[in-house]
Amino acid sequence: VPMLLPQFLDRAVKVYGKKAAIVGEKRTYTYREINDRVNQLSRGLQEAGINKGDRVAYLAPNTSEMYEGFYGVLQLGAVMVPLNTRLKPEDYLYILNHSGTRVLFVDDELLQLIQPVLNELTTVEAVFVHGLEEDQDALRSYEKWLSSFESDPVDRPDMDENDLATLLYTSGTTGKPKGVMLSHRSNFMHALTTQHHLRVSDHDVLLHVLPMFHVNGWGSPFYYTANGATQVFLKKVVPADIFQKVKENSVTVMHMAPTVLNGLLQYAEQQAEEAKTKQNIRIVIAGSAPPPVFVKAVEEKLKWEFIQVYGMTEAAPLITTSIIRDTQQDMSPEEKYRLKAKAGYEFIGSEVKVVNENGEEVTPNGKEIGEIIVRSNTVMEGYWNNPEETHKAIRDGFYHTGDMAFVDEEGNIEIADRKKDIIISGGENISSIEVEAVLYDHPAVVEAAVIAVPHDKWGETPQAVVVLREGYVVSEDELITFARSRMAHFKAPTIIKFVDDLPKTASGKIQKVHLRKAYWENKG
Ligand code: ATP
Ligand code: MG
Repeated sequence: VPMLLPQFLDRAVKVYGKKAAIVGEKRTYTYREINDRVNQLSRGLQEAGINKGDRVAYLAPNTSEMYEGFYGVLQLGAVMVPLNTRLKPEDYLYILNHSGTRVLFVDDELLQLIQPVLNELTTVEAVFVHGLEEDQDALRSYEKWLSSFESDPVDRPDMDENDLATLLYTSGTTGKPKGVMLSHRSNFMHALTTQHHLRVSDHDVLLHVLPMFHVNGWGSPFYYTANGATQVFLKKVVPADIFQKVKENSVTVMHMAPTVLNGLLQYAEQQAEEAKTKQNIRIVIAGSAPPPVFVKAVEEKLKWEFIQVYGMTEAAPLITTSIIRDTQQDMSPEEKYRLKAKAGYEFIGSEVKVVNENGEEVTPNGKEIGEIIVRSNTVMEGYWNNPEETHKAIRDGFYHTGDMAFVDEEGNIEIADRKKDIIISGGENISSIEVEAVLYDHPAVVEAAVIAVPHDKWGETPQAVVVLREGYVVSEDELITFARSRMAHFKAPTIIKFVDDLPKTASGKIQKVHLRKAYWENKG
């Protein structure tokens, strides 16, 4: 039997048919009810001429309508193309034409993002709008259209587990987004492993905080569905609404970017006890190398168990995690936070190595740095229409992540930096993440990003761009002195810029590429 994603919903309907599956903004659906809508959607797509292999795109925040798309599109063997909601019209034009998308679904609140280029789309034949009550010229009302179809099961085409499930464009943190081709097998294996490591069960209530168009959020509708968990949807990801939903729905698990989690921490500090009470949160999961103080704040102030994961779009995405509960029993809290701030051990099914320039594994001493490479059933088939980048990324069977890391004596992987972000000063590698972690230790610092800038003597030097906590003042000199008191002097930043906020991707990642650009534009 091939590993095909529709099996997850099939099983949930059978086992958990009458259970609350999807808590949307407007109403709640049981697994049976949502499956009926999924079938209606598939029938609609069939009538629109969508066949196996055709691309269907979504431009939507996290909604029940987008969830329907996952299964409605995939059971036809069609390929889902989720679009980042923070792009420019010309980016949508690029991705939709590049992917050859035939049908596009758009949330009415996001319609204006794409309207300027609708006439220039070369392959899109139909546009359906979520939340639009009546057809408006070429824009079709999704709900009206959907309700005209029967909800009985549809005939599925013959499918192979290597068939594509999605083209997932990368975050574009470092440049132009690339279309990552992920198969049914890769998403299926990822779902099985992730649900195991996170111990997902039918007691879980997931609040979708990460956008589902991003690879981290993209996986959740698979592994939470397979286990009959309840999934709560939220359009606007702001702290007050998150805490509200957590309470209302007895949420047990959330995945989010550390920047969003940081926002929750700030909010909880200001809003006092109210935000923290009556919670049922079991775990909160985040990536992007959070500093140990941050892990500590989450566990002690919010009282949520923190789990770090590491991955990338190209691996569907997760390949390591720092959670090994049974070995944490007799650790001091400080030790535990330090461990959880590392990316940890590989997921079952992933072979993860950290190698030097000669391809040899680095010594596990926490000092030698190398690139993380991974071989796994979850790794992509390649970049869509981009054999050149594919060959650069996948060599000798391993995907080369472009992330640099250390391995400690216990074998834990600790992310040092992206290759592109590492600072080389006087011939020494400085991890921007390590410098940021020290800055986060200062009570006045809410957010910090460190980039390399040119230096006459050392080649490069670390420059920090910092956002201060409301009501706090600290000078550049004070912060530099603070950093120098806590780390090797050559690693400490020599320049600090204060800003009101940092440029971020839609999934909440700080875009250092823009900070570097700003540096070059202002010369400092
Ligand atoms: P692009 O490839 O378009 O520049 P991107 O690499 O940010 O964008 P994603 O696939 O969303 O796109 O992100 C994966 C990257 O995020 C990883 O390669 C790594 O650099 C970073 N990352 C993910 N998890 C962690 C983590 N736990 N710690 C540190 N960095 C992480
Ligand atoms: Mg990347």
